Amino acid sequence: MKTIAPQEARDILLAEECAKARKLQIIFGRWWRYYATPYEFRWTLYFEETLCPYCGAARDPNVIDRSDADVGLWADHLDHMDPLSRGGEDSIRNAVYVCARCNLAKGKRLFVAWLETLAPGLRERAQNIYEAKHGQLPEAFQPGPRQARLIQPRRELQFEESVLRRLFPAPIVTGPPRTMPVTTAFTPTRQSSR
Ligand SMILES: [Zn+2]
Repeated sequence: MKTIAPQEARDILLAEECAKARKLQIIFGRWWRYYATPYEFRWTLYFEETLCPYCGAARDPNVIDRSDADVGLWADHLDHMDPLSRGGEDSIRNAVYVCARCNLAKGKRLFVAWLETLAPGLRERAQNIYEAKHGQLPEAFQPGPRQARLIQPRRELQFEESVLRRLFPAPIVTGPPRTMPVTTAFTPTRQSSR
């Protein structure tokens, strides 16, 4: 049996998730990120940052070697920046991989409150990551009812892109799943750009 080098394995996993992203764009148009669950895009999320977004701790480079293990065994935790229990989205817009220590320390705090506890340099970095992913400032988040965590594969994704284009000639949504402030063209609104 051929042994796959970690880099090669990583490229394959990321390519699979890129294909899912293209399919979601057919179904949900420009709003696809709101409908893309962390469950479906965990490798993309894992490799989005090379350091813990909250404390700067380095990522485990051997994680690919354990890719057949349950995700729960990873040293890093998937964090919903605004917690699901406070109405945060279960989407890739609101998810990052962080070290276990930061995830446990953060608990159920809203992102805007969590930022206050970070050291100045790290705080700015974490805030930039939030803004780039959400397209808005952490302060703009409105706490709401608890959101469900989706851990089922989306059935549509098993179809080829060509089939999906026939099934969904136009996006089936005209906005995010629920009413929330949305910026146009996904451009972060920065408080300051030093
Ligand atoms: Zn950390």
